Amino acid sequence: MENCLFCKLAAGEIPSAKVYEDETVYAFRDIAPQAPVHILVIPKTHIASVQELNGETIGLAAACLLAIPKIAAQEGLLPGGYRVVSNCGPDAGQTVGHLHFHILGGTRLNDRMA
Ligand code: 5GP
Ligand code: ZN
Repeated sequence: MENCLFCKLAAGEIPSAKVYEDETVYAFRDIAPQAPVHILVIPKTHIASVQELNGETIGLAAACLLAIPKIAAQEGLLPGGYRVVSNCGPDAGQTVGHLHFHILGGTRLNDRMA
């Protein structure tokens, strides 16, 4: 999608620190990390958020979710674990309108999530 920051990152038009890529998924380090490890996992195909998912597009989210445990292992987040977050809409603080899953880890995370 034109004028979408994460579409441009996935296409390599804007540089980013890649940590994982496959046919459907691109993952890169968050530019403003909120944990020692903070990675964003996105589908290469544009979709706005989990709210937009349907039977035709669920494969995009499934591919992201399947990539997450691979990335976690690659980043040394096991056996400690990690948190996966997808902000959806303004009340959740979504600032980029392209579906993304945050992977947060590398330390003991806050017990409170909101
Ligand atoms: P949201 O708030 O929409 O859930 O998450 C968007 C995330 O994208 C934020 O954590 C923000 O730091 C990150 N971000 C915004 N612009 C860029 C960028 O140009 N490059 C990278 N790597 N991350 C970005
Ligand atoms: Zn996009």
